[in-house]
Amino acid sequence: MMPNENMFWARARLRILLLGLLFSQSLPLGAETLLLTSDRLLDVSTGRMSQNVQVLVVDGKIASINPDLVPAEARLIELGDRTLLPGLIDSHVHLTSSGANFRAQILTENAAEAALRGAQSAQVTLMAGFTTVRDLAQLIPSSTLIAVALGDASNKGWIVAPRIITAGHALSITGGQIDPSMWVASAEGLLELGPAYGIADGIDEVIKATRYQIKHGARVIKMAVTAGIMMQQEGVAAQQYSEAEIRAVVEEAGRHGIRVAAHAMGAKGINAAVRAGVASIEHGWMLDNESIRLMKKNGTYLVPTTSMLSRISFDNMPASVRAKAEVVFPLAKQSLINAFRSGVKVAMGSDASMIPHGENATEIVAMVDLGMAPLQAIQAATLNAADLLGKSDRGRVEVGLLADLTAVDGNPLEDITTLLDVVFVMKGGEIYKQP
Ligand SMILES: [Zn+2]
Repeated sequence: MMPNENMFWARARLRILLLGLLFSQSLPLGAETLLLTSDRLLDVSTGRMSQNVQVLVVDGKIASINPDLVPAEARLIELGDRTLLPGLIDSHVHLTSSGANFRAQILTENAAEAALRGAQSAQVTLMAGFTTVRDLAQLIPSSTLIAVALGDASNKGWIVAPRIITAGHALSITGGQIDPSMWVASAEGLLELGPAYGIADGIDEVIKATRYQIKHGARVIKMAVTAGIMMQQEGVAAQQYSEAEIRAVVEEAGRHGIRVAAHAMGAKGINAAVRAGVASIEHGWMLDNESIRLMKKNGTYLVPTTSMLSRISFDNMPASVRAKAEVVFPLAKQSLINAFRSGVKVAMGSDASMIPHGENATEIVAMVDLGMAPLQAIQAATLNAADLLGKSDRGRVEVGLLADLTAVDGNPLEDITTLLDVVFVMKGGEIYKQP
């Protein structure tokens, strides 16, 4: 055989391989062509409610709204007297733990068990209409980033789950808000946690911790900038990371195109985090006027985790945690009311597991209960959350975007509680729940 004949066959084989790849990529799960019909469709950008709509879904994307021509192979899905909405997005969950009292879980469960727990949490979250979640930190002290694996498993179709963007471990100072050794009263063996587990002090260690999370698949960095209420430590909502440490993390993550979410409750820590350039303030329960001014100026999102204020149970928690909550919760309600009135950008985040997984939409209702307009609350859980996550391919029902869709009975602008009972769930053109 001539050398150029070898070359010919090598090229032919490559062409066949490439064709095969092309073919397999053009036929993902959810490649079915579907025509959805619904009495109503909410444009979440404008609040406009369209009547008697048709949405054509091809290859997992929204191909057309009210198409002139419908492909013959399209399967008809009639939703009837329902309102079609984009898939909901929860910007703050913890899939790998369940229940506010996670102390026992972090001592008794290994990474494999937490992964299975996470798969279960993810499934009920998707079935509640949440097609994307941001997992803001693993609490289980394992160097394996469990929610990264859950996200991969979701993408591969191994589990029924939302699209998952994860932080891996949250960065926390030694003895800080997300140092597990503090949650379990300093159990021996949990004391040696270092940057891989998010426990990091000083510029060098916070950079190392950030790089570890990103290396292992984190696509957002979570940083516990202040104390909270769940820990057996002194100081309600006191600043824990210095502004220089926060800035170092924002810059390091930024070099990878990754944003930083800051757990921050007290105003001093909130303001340092906003000045340092974080993308979102998680909780923001003790905002002052300067916080609101800075957040509006920098376009920083608030993820208020409102429903915790009325839903969290302190039954099995230490008395010190309950005592802190009694100080912080009234301040938090007023802080969030002020923020909602001020026009600070808000993205919805429930902090499930602190409330039960699958009940994420109670956060949307809780924001309305604190004075937010229903349309704004829906925007917080759709287009604002997509913006915070840096995902322009979702959060609206528009041609070219992912076919991540939900539907509810009735009109959610008139009755926000309809979102507590989502009757139709589609992710990437695949139907997971249907009336
Ligand atoms: Zn949280």
